[in-house]
Amino acid sequence: MLKKLFQSIRPSVRPTHAHRTTPQVLGSQQHSLQRQQFSRHAVGIVERLQQAGYQAYLVGGCVRDLLLGITPKDFDVATSATPEQVRAEFRNARIIGRRFKLVHVHFGREIIEVATFRANHPEDEAEDTRNSSRHESGRILRDNVYGTLEEDAQRRDFTINALYYDPVAERILDYAGGVHDVRNKLIRLIGDPKQRYQEDAVRMLRAVRFAAKLDFGIERRTVEPIRELAASLRDIPAARLFEETLKLFLSGHGAHVYEMLVDLQLFDALFPGSAYALEHEPEYTHTLIRNALVNTDLRVAQGKPVTPAFLFAALLWPALPMRAAYLQGQGLPPIPAMQEAAHGLISEQCQRIAIPKRFTLPIKEIWDMQERLPRRNGKRADVLLENPRFRAGYDFLLLRESAGEQTNGLGQWWTEYQELPDRERRAMISELAGGDEDSGSAPRKRRRTSKRKSDVE
Ligand code: ATP
Ligand code: MG
Repeated sequence: MLKKLFQSIRPSVRPTHAHRTTPQVLGSQQHSLQRQQFSRHAVGIVERLQQAGYQAYLVGGCVRDLLLGITPKDFDVATSATPEQVRAEFRNARIIGRRFKLVHVHFGREIIEVATFRANHPEDEAEDTRNSSRHESGRILRDNVYGTLEEDAQRRDFTINALYYDPVAERILDYAGGVHDVRNKLIRLIGDPKQRYQEDAVRMLRAVRFAAKLDFGIERRTVEPIRELAASLRDIPAARLFEETLKLFLSGHGAHVYEMLVDLQLFDALFPGSAYALEHEPEYTHTLIRNALVNTDLRVAQGKPVTPAFLFAALLWPALPMRAAYLQGQGLPPIPAMQEAAHGLISEQCQRIAIPKRFTLPIKEIWDMQERLPRRNGKRADVLLENPRFRAGYDFLLLRESAGEQTNGLGQWWTEYQELPDRERRAMISELAGGDEDSGSAPRKRRRTSKRKSDVE
C-alpha cells in the first residue's frame, strides 16, 4: 500500500537541489538489489539496530556499486543510534574519530563502519586548517552534528551516494534522485554545486574519481563551477590530498582520471610543476604520464601491486629537465643540478600533496637510477642489477622511451642483459668498452637527451 502511494507521488521532474523530505521508495520489485549481495555482517548490524528500535540502513558506495553490478569495497551503515548506543549493542565495537565519532564493528578482518545520521554543517565537512577551537570546543557543534535521516541524505556529496537500503524491508530510500542518476549514469551534486565545492573542494576530485570509476558523465551544473573553483584545492590540507591522489590514480582508472583532471584544470592545482611542463612540452609530458597511468591501470586490472613511488616519479619527471637546465644556467654542474632540481621539485610538491618520506626516497632513487643506467662499464652493470631499486629504474627507463626519449637502445640493452647467462653478459660489456658513448658519463648524456627530446616534437 505504502509502496503504491509512493509510486504514485514519484516526481516526474528531474531532481533539483530543493530540499526533499519525502523519499522515493523502491520496493523489492522495483530494484535489483538482494540482501544476500551485502556483507552478512553489515546486514546483521542493521537488523540488530532495528530490533533495538533504531533506524538503520546500508548506505553510500555499497548500495551504488551493487546497483551497478560492481563489487563494493566496503559496507557502511547509517543509523539514528548515537555512537554510544551503537557500541552498547555490539561487543566487538569501537568508537573512533575525534570530531566525528564513528563506530567500527569488527568481524575478524572485516570492519563495518557505523555512522550516526548527521546534518550538513559546512565547516564540519571541510577538514580545515583554521583554529580548531571552533570545532574541538563545540559541545553545541557536537549536538548539532547529529541529524535526521533526511538531513543525513542532504549532507552527502552526490545523489548516487545518498541511497539507503533497508535489507529487512528490502527497500531503497532515495531522497536526492540517486536512482534516476544511476540509471542515467550521471554524477550530480546534491544542493547548490558552487556552495558544496566551497564547503569542501575535495568534492571536485571525488566527482572526477566516480565519473572515471563508474564511467558516468558529470551533470552540467555539477561540472560548471569546477574550472573556476579548481584553485581552491590549495586550501585543502596536503595530507588529505595525498590520500585522495592515491585513490584517483591507483584505483584502476588513472588514465581516464588524468584526462579529466587536465581538462577541468584540477591537475594544475595538484601538480603545478607538471602542469607547467605540460604547457611547454605538451606531447612528451602527456605521453609519458598517460603511458605510466595506462600501465598502472593494467597492473591493477591484473591484480598486481602498484607503488605510489613509481606513480609520483612518473607524474613529476617531466618537470625535472627545465628545472635542472635552469640550475645549470646558474652555474651548477649537471649532476648536482639534477639532484638539486629533484630535491626542490619534491619539496615544492609536498607542500601541495604530502607525499610521505617512505615514498619520496624511492622517487629520488628511481630518478638517480636514470643517471646510472647508461653507465655500464666494468662491474657497474652487475652492481646496478643487484640494486633493490633496479627493477623500478629499468621500468622507468622503458616508460621514458615509450614517450619518445632517445636513449640509444638502452632499454633493449638492459632487457637482453638481464636475460643472458654470465658469459654473454661479459661479451656485452666488452662491446661497450669498444666505444659506446652511452656507457660514458651522464652529463654528456643528459644534454643530448634533452636536445633529442625536442626533436621528437
Ligand atoms: P568508495 O568507497 O567506493 O570510494 P564511497 O561512496 O563509499 O566510495 P567514501 O569516501 O567511502 O566513498 O564515503 C562514504 C560516503 O560518505 C559517500 O558515499 C558519501 O555519501 C559520503 N561522503 C564521503 N565524502 C564526502 C564528502 N567530501 N562530502 C559529502 N559526503 C561525503
Ligand atoms: Mg566507501
